[in-house]
This record gives sequence, C-alpha cells and structure tokens, in this order.
Amino acid sequence: MTRKCINCKIEFPNSIDYFRNETAEACRQCGDYYLTTSQRQFLENHQIYVKQVFDVFGLQKKNYQQKMNAIDKIIGVGANPCRAFGHTLKMLSGHCPQCNTHHIEFTLRWFDNKFVYLAFSQKTQLIKIGVTDNIIKRELSLNDTNYGNINDWKILKSNLFKKAGQVEAKIQKELIRHRVYRKFIKDYKIVYSSEIFNCDLETANSILDKYIASNL
Ligand SMILES: [Zn+2]
Ligand SMILES: [Zn+2]
Repeated sequence: MTRKCINCKIEFPNSIDYFRNETAEACRQCGDYYLTTSQRQFLENHQIYVKQVFDVFGLQKKNYQQKMNAIDKIIGVGANPCRAFGHTLKMLSGHCPQCNTHHIEFTLRWFDNKFVYLAFSQKTQLIKIGVTDNIIKRELSLNDTNYGNINDWKILKSNLFKKAGQVEAKIQKELIRHRVYRKFIKDYKIVYSSEIFNCDLETANSILDKYIASNL
C-alpha cells in the first residue's frame, strides 16, 4: 500500500519509514513542510536550505542518522524537545542547533565540496592531512604559520570531495596510531597540532588513493 506526499507528489510505502504517522500529509523527505515560521527563519539566518530538512518525528537517533546520511539531509524537524528550551530541531549529529549554533558550522563544513590534501615535510618526514578550498594558498599558509613548528610543507596530493570533512576524518582515523602532537605558536598562543602523522609517505598516499578511487 502506498501513499502520496502532498508536497513532492511522490508515492511512498505507507509506513513510519516514510511518513511520521497515519495522518501525515508530507513524507519524511519533505521535512520542510513541518517547519514553523520561527524555525524557517532560524534556518534562513544560518544558511541552511529547507531542502536539507528531514522529518525525524518519532525516530531514534541511530535510525534518523542512517536515513538522513543516505540522502544528504543535515537537519531534523519534529525531534524530541531539547532539555534546555524544548527546541525540536536536531542536527544530524543529534545536537540542538538552536542551543549551540556552532554545531551548524561544523555540520556544514562536513558537507562542503572541498579539497582533501596530503602535505609532506622533507625535513621532518612528517605528514599532514587536511581540508582546504585553495591548495596554493593553503600550502603558503601552512609554512607562514609554521604549522606544527614546520616550515617546509609541500602539498603532494589533493582531491576534490563532495564530503571533504567526512573523508578527512576517515583518513585521520585510519592513521590515528601514527598521530603526533606538535607544539607551535598561533596568534601568540601555544597550540598543538592534531593533524600531523608520523608514518611513511607510501601508507598515507595509498589511504588517500583509496578514497579517491571510491569517489565519495
Ligand atoms: Zn514528499
Ligand atoms: Zn535547544
């Protein structure tokens, strides 16, 4: 048995996977249908398109994350009210975007079309994996800022990914046992690099190649 969504006019199976309940008019993919005026305003203020909204009403976090990931949705509507203020929007991560707007920037970064790069320092034989929208500028800034107390960074390889932040995180996770924390000064403060790895170039290269090949 199918039911037609009043908004997108697509017919979906008549189940809670596709509609929030028996009387729902719009499908879960048309989450924007369920936004209140003030929620709509909030999303607009933070440059989230209403097309990125999914109806998470009655779904457990794991369940909505899986569904949203599959279709590139980043924000849920109809969630359990947050403890602090009873907001009912949720980021893909499960955080309340209205209580803490930095979750929005983080999530948007995650979905940006950007370059994941591999930089190498000949002097120290160390590797950096990162994300940027400008390879040439980034190579300069790594050396200008003396990132990780290193100033001979060369970006050896880069690739444009649709979900650059996600790819970066996956590669860094694979390299985690090689991670080194290097102290350096940034904006007159001591900071520690978290994106530098002490592993051979071949290993890092082949991991990046693997993600390039899988074309995420
Ligand atoms: Zn629909
Ligand atoms: Zn909240």
